[in-house]
Amino acid sequence: MKDYSGHIGIIGGGIAGLTLGCALLKEDIPTVIFEKMPEETSHGAAISLSMNALRLLDRLDIYNDLKDQSFIHSAASIQGPQNEISSFQTPEVLTTRRQTLMTLLYSKYLNLGGEIHHGYTFDSFDPVKREATFANKEKYTFKHLAACDGIRSSIRDTSFSANQDPKYSGYSAWRGIGKSNLQKIHFALGPDSHIVSYPINKTGDVSFVAVRKEDFQFKESWKEEGSIKDLLDDFFLYDSKIFPVIADSMPLYKWGIYIRPPLQSMICKNITLVGDSAHPMVPFLGQGACMAIEDAYSFAMACRKHVNNFADAQEAYDFVRNKRTKKIQKLSMIQGKIYHMKNSLLVLARNAVMKYTNIPGNDLRRIHDYDAHDEMQTYLSFGDLRVINSGKGP
Ligand SMILES: Cc1cc2nc3c(=O)[nH]c(=O)nc-3n(C[C@H](O)[C@H](O)[C@H](O)COP(=O)(O)OP(=O)(O)OC[C@H]3O[C@@H](n4cnc5c(N)ncnc54)[C@H](O)[C@@H]3O)c2cc1C
Repeated sequence: MKDYSGHIGIIGGGIAGLTLGCALLKEDIPTVIFEKMPEETSHGAAISLSMNALRLLDRLDIYNDLKDQSFIHSAASIQGPQNEISSFQTPEVLTTRRQTLMTLLYSKYLNLGGEIHHGYTFDSFDPVKREATFANKEKYTFKHLAACDGIRSSIRDTSFSANQDPKYSGYSAWRGIGKSNLQKIHFALGPDSHIVSYPINKTGDVSFVAVRKEDFQFKESWKEEGSIKDLLDDFFLYDSKIFPVIADSMPLYKWGIYIRPPLQSMICKNITLVGDSAHPMVPFLGQGACMAIEDAYSFAMACRKHVNNFADAQEAYDFVRNKRTKKIQKLSMIQGKIYHMKNSLLVLARNAVMKYTNIPGNDLRRIHDYDAHDEMQTYLSFGDLRVINSGKGP
C-alpha cells in the first residue's frame, strides 16, 4: 500500500478538492485526493464565477482555457414577472458548464502530477494516528486531512459539530439548460420566487436557475426529476419566454437548497474544512463555489508559508477565511429576501434603487474585488511582524 504519510490527504474531488489539489501542488506540497464517485461522473447544470474566484484560477493557469469555453458578462438586466425594471453594467462574471470547470481543474491537477483515487468513500479519521479509513477498509496515514466533502460532510459531523444535520432552507431550485439568443445575465423577480438566466457559451446554450420559496417535501434525495409543465406550473406568474427552449430529452431537476449553521472554527486538530463542508450557503449571490476556490487557494498559501507547522497554517487560514465566508453566507441569505419581496411598497422601493442607483452594482463589486491572495499574503506578513514585535520572533 502506498505511503502518503508526508501528504495532505484531501477527501472529495469537487471544486474545493480539485482546486486545493492544484494549489498545493503548485506550492510543491505533496497531496492525494480520495473521491467517492467514479471518474466518469457527470456534473450537470451551469455555474457563474466572479472575479474573486477567476483571478485565483488565473494564478493557477486555468482561467484562459476556461474563458475560451465560457461566456464573459459585463451587463445584466432585471425585470418583474412581466416587465423590465432596469439594465446595468456588472463587474466581470464568467458563466460556464460545471463539467467544463471540473474537467479543466481535473486535467490541471493531473498535469501537476496529482494523484486521485476514485470510488473511495471516506469512513473515519483517527487524528492521533493521522489515519483515514475508507469504506473498502483500506487505511492511509496522512500528514494532514483536508475535508472537501461538501455540505453532507461526514468529517464535519464527526469532528466539528455533531447533531447539526443539513436543514432545508425553505427554497427549491429548478436548474436546466436550453437554447435562446440571450446575451447577458437576466434576473426576473417575483413574490417568493426569482429566475436567473445566462448564456454559458457563444453557441446559444442558456442556463437557468428558477428558485421558489416553498415547503416542498423532498421524498428520497435532494433532487427530483420533473417535466417542463411542472416547471411552468411552479412559475405561472412569469412570462414563459423568460425560459430558454428546453429540449424534451433534457432532464430537468428540482433541487432542495440546504444549509448548515456557521461553525465557530473551520479547523480542528489536524483537520481543515474547505468549501461547502465548512460553509454551505444559499446560492443567491453565486458565491458558494467562489468561496470554495478562495478557501482552497488561501489554505495552500498558508501551508506553503508554514510548511513545517501546519497548525500555524490552519490558524492563519481560519482567521482569514472564517470572517469572509460568514459574511458572504449572511449576505447570500439577505439577497434571497431582497429578490423575493412581496410587499408592494417595498417592491417599488427595491425597483427604484435598482433602476436609479448604483447600489446593487457597487455591493457586488465589493464582493468581487476581494483578492484572497493579497488578503492571505498580508495576514501572513503581518502575523510574522506580530511575533517579532511581541518579542517572540527571531
Ligand atoms: C442551485 C445552486 C446553484 C449554484 N450556483 C452557484 C454559482 O452560480 N456560483 C457559485 O460560486 N456557486 C454556486 N452554487 C454553490 C456551489 O455549487 C457549491 O458551493 C460548490 O459546488 C461547493 O463545492 P465543494 O467542492 O465544496 O463541494 P461539492 O461540490 O459538494 O463536492 C464534494 C465532493 O466530495 C465528494 N464526497 C462527499 N462525501 C465523500 C466521502 N465520504 N468520501 C469521498 N468523497 C466524498 C463528493 O462526491 C463530491 O465530489 C450553487 C449551488 C446550488 C445548490
